[in-house]
Amino acid sequence: MRFYDIIDRKKNKFELTREEIDFFVKSVTDGSAPDYQISALLMAIVLNGMTEKETFYLTSAMTESGEIMKKGNIRGICVDKHSTGGVSDSTTLVVVPVVCSAGLKFAKLSGRGLGHTGGTLDKLESFTGFNVNLSAEEFENTVNTVGAAISGQTENIDPADKKLYALRDVTATVDSIPLIASSIMSKKLASFADIIVLDVKYGSGAFMKKEADAEKLAEAMVDIGKRAGRKTAAVITSMEQPLGTDIGCNAEAAGAVRILKGEKNDLYEVSKILAVEILTLSGIEKDTAYKMFDNIITSGQALKKLKEIVSAQGGDVSLIDNPENFERGKFFCEAVAEKNGYLYSFDAEKIGLANVALGGGRKRKGDAVIHSCGINMKIRTGEKVEKGQAVAVLFSPDKDKLREGTDIFSKSYVIKDIKPEIPKLIYKIIE
Ligand code: URA
Repeated sequence: MRFYDIIDRKKNKFELTREEIDFFVKSVTDGSAPDYQISALLMAIVLNGMTEKETFYLTSAMTESGEIMKKGNIRGICVDKHSTGGVSDSTTLVVVPVVCSAGLKFAKLSGRGLGHTGGTLDKLESFTGFNVNLSAEEFENTVNTVGAAISGQTENIDPADKKLYALRDVTATVDSIPLIASSIMSKKLASFADIIVLDVKYGSGAFMKKEADAEKLAEAMVDIGKRAGRKTAAVITSMEQPLGTDIGCNAEAAGAVRILKGEKNDLYEVSKILAVEILTLSGIEKDTAYKMFDNIITSGQALKKLKEIVSAQGGDVSLIDNPENFERGKFFCEAVAEKNGYLYSFDAEKIGLANVALGGGRKRKGDAVIHSCGINMKIRTGEKVEKGQAVAVLFSPDKDKLREGTDIFSKSYVIKDIKPEIPKLIYKIIE
C-alpha cells in the first residue's frame, strides 16, 4: 500500500477502507510517513469529509495507536464526561460528586486549559496539594475506594492524535468535524468508561460558533461511541457567555463548591442536564434522575463526596468548608458600562483571553497558571445596565497583567438600547 494512493483516493472523494485508514494511522505513529503527505491527506479530509464508517475506523485506529486503559478490578458502571471546551466551564466539579453519590463510578482523564478555555486539572489544583498525576494503580484504587478519580492523561495514550493534532494546528486543518470527532473520541475510547456523556458547546466562546455545526459534531461523536459499544449521549449547550459568575481557577473551584451548597445559576443547570443524561444511560428513569440530582445536593451528599475525592487525591479539604478562603489576587479593577441600556451580547472567547492575560491561562504549553486571578461577572446577557455600573470585577496579583486583562475584557461586551434574545442554554440532546 502507498500513502500517495490514499491521498489520491480521498482527493477524488472515494470512501477509504479500514485497511487504508489503519495504514495511514500506523504510518503516522511509527514516523514512516513524512509530514507533507500526512498534511496533504488531512487537507483532503477537511475538504471532502469522511463517512461515519471512515470516521469510526479512524477513531479506532487512533485509539489503538497507544495504551488502552483496562478496567482491571474496578467494579460497577464506569462513567466519563467530556466538554468540547469553554469559559468557566466547571461542570466536572459538580457532576462527578453528584453522579458518584448516586452509586456510579467516575474514571476521568482530564486536560489543562487550552487557548482561551479553562482546564479541569488546573481547577483541581486550586485545592492545594491535589495530585493530578495518579499512576494507573493509584487511579484504579481511588476509583474503587472513593468512587471517582480525576487525573491527567499519560503520554502513552493516543500518540497518533498527538502527532496529528500538532500538524493540524499548523496546517489550517483543525476545523473538520470528522477530525475533531475522531481526535476527541479516540482519547475517550482509550479509557474503559461504559457511559460517555459529551457536552458540546456552541457560541462565541466555543470551537463551534453555530448550533448547527455543534449538532453535526455531537452526532458524529455519539455515532462513534455507539459503534464502539459505549452508551453515549451528547448535550449541546450555549457558550455565548461564561457559565456561572466566576472565571479563573480558584474562583471557579469556589463557584462549584457553592453550587454543591445550594447556589443556582446556569452552571447548576448545565451540570444538572449532564448528570441526568449519565444517570439515564445507567438505567434510571429521567424524571427520577432529575429529582435525584436535587436531592443529592440538598442532602449534602455531593459536598461530602467532593471532600472524599479531594482528600483521596491529597487536596486541601478545608477550602470546601470555607470557599471564601480560596486565594484571590489583591489588585482588582471594575469593567463598567459606558452607557445606559441592555447588556446585548458577550464575546466569551475574549473573556477567556482576558483571563489568560490576567495570568489564568497559558500563552505557551508548559507555562504556569496563576490560580488566584480571575473575573467575577456582575451582569448577564439581557440585563439592564446603567452608565458606570460594573459589568465585571477583574483581579490578579500582578498589576500589569490586570491592566492587560481589563483592556481585553472591556472589548468583550456590547450594550444596546434594545433587549436581546437570550441565548438558549440547552440547545439539544442527542441520545
Ligand atoms: N479537542 C481535541 O481533543 N481535539 C480536537 O481536534 C479539538 C478539540
